[in-house]
Amino acid sequence: MKKLIILFLLMPLWVAAQRDYTIMAVNHTELAPNVHRLFVGNVVTMVAFAGPDGLMLIDAAYEQTTKQVKDTLQRIVGQPVRYLVNTHLHADHTGGNTELGKGADIIAHHSVKTWLVSDRKQGERIPGPMPVHAIPNITFEGTLNMDFNGQQVQLRHLPNSHTAGDIIIYLSHSNVLVLGDLLFADNFPFVDVNQGGNPLNFIKSLHWVTENFPDNVVIVGGHGPVYNMAQLKTYLANLVQTIAVITEAKTAGFTAEQMKQQRILAQWESFGKFFITEDRWIDTLYPYVGL
Ligand SMILES: [Zn+2]
Repeated sequence: MKKLIILFLLMPLWVAAQRDYTIMAVNHTELAPNVHRLFVGNVVTMVAFAGPDGLMLIDAAYEQTTKQVKDTLQRIVGQPVRYLVNTHLHADHTGGNTELGKGADIIAHHSVKTWLVSDRKQGERIPGPMPVHAIPNITFEGTLNMDFNGQQVQLRHLPNSHTAGDIIIYLSHSNVLVLGDLLFADNFPFVDVNQGGNPLNFIKSLHWVTENFPDNVVIVGGHGPVYNMAQLKTYLANLVQTIAVITEAKTAGFTAEQMKQQRILAQWESFGKFFITEDRWIDTLYPYVGL
């Protein structure tokens, strides 16, 4: 009985801590003819590229949001998914593979497959492998070019950035570039060092992007608003400045705790409003700078 009462008392807290994904709305905008951006719950992005060869879907959002995603795709595209591309392994990009991957070929970097067939152990949580139909069946290293819906689709692995296996996708005629979680637009990025990410490589990869795509490209990140190239360059310059500030403080003998106390990144306060706060960005970079 006592246990039950305790459970009952804790329940509202537990419920409040759970996000109800099933009611997340899906907003959509057309980035170019037949290229749509789906913004799920105002949190995570997907891109749908439709045409005579079929529908290519880039990222799958959460497992729990597939119903509203399918409804939206039915309304705006009306085609089944032929190719589903996963930009990387995180569950807010691959979770929806369970429904959206049915009957589709799933494309990803090889390391994404390795993760999805594993127990996917994270701390105490062991969700186990994804079902076979939800696991990428086309994997690659380096680059993969496809001719699809009348244009070349270029997929490229940018190693050890947000994770070990991030890929970016460029629709060459539509001039739309999908960066996955290499772009947390307007915010400090999450760098998953436990999954092979590295903050300095992350910056290098973004530099590479700014040097290898046209100025008028439309840039879609995994989170946050759509950018143009000028915005991406400004954003990158800001991240580079934060790294310079942290490096300088570390060289002067500051610990990470002292940097947080003194709020050395206060100038970038608005970047810390998603889930990587100023403090977490300091913690991410501290081990990698001033060596
Ligand atoms: Zn991610």
